[in-house]
Amino acid sequence: MSADCIFCKIINKDIAAKIVFEDENYICFHDINPAAEVHVLIVPKKHIKSVDELEISDKELIGQLLLTAKKVAEILNISQIGYKLVCNVGSGGGQVVEHLHLHVLSGKNIRLP
Ligand code: AMP
Repeated sequence: MSADCIFCKIINKDIAAKIVFEDENYICFHDINPAAEVHVLIVPKKHIKSVDELEISDKELIGQLLLTAKKVAEILNISQIGYKLVCNVGSGGGQVVEHLHLHVLSGKNIRLP
């Protein structure tokens, strides 16, 4: 948990979000500024700044990341048509929110977030 982090505030329910799925380790919600017809963020509840800050001890948690994306795709009914997964790393990689997250994008007119 990081006091200034917008995603930590969503995890703590201090800020509202349109939640698609939540369990002990992850929260998944619609992006506020969608870059596609379907645009959901998969966010670990543990505050990890980016992929670049991962430790070996995060192995199991990060293993759940793609499985959670798959689950969200099932919930959103996009498994059949397919989807794009994007993870921006660091400012040079286009990351704006410094809390690791995976973008799930599907539908027409996908632009890279
Ligand atoms: P990134 O550029 O990879 O860091 O992506 C951050 C994403 O978070 C952007 O697509 C934003 O639109 C999204 N975002 C920022 N604030 C919120 C919020 N309060 N609720 C939902 N999505 C948000």
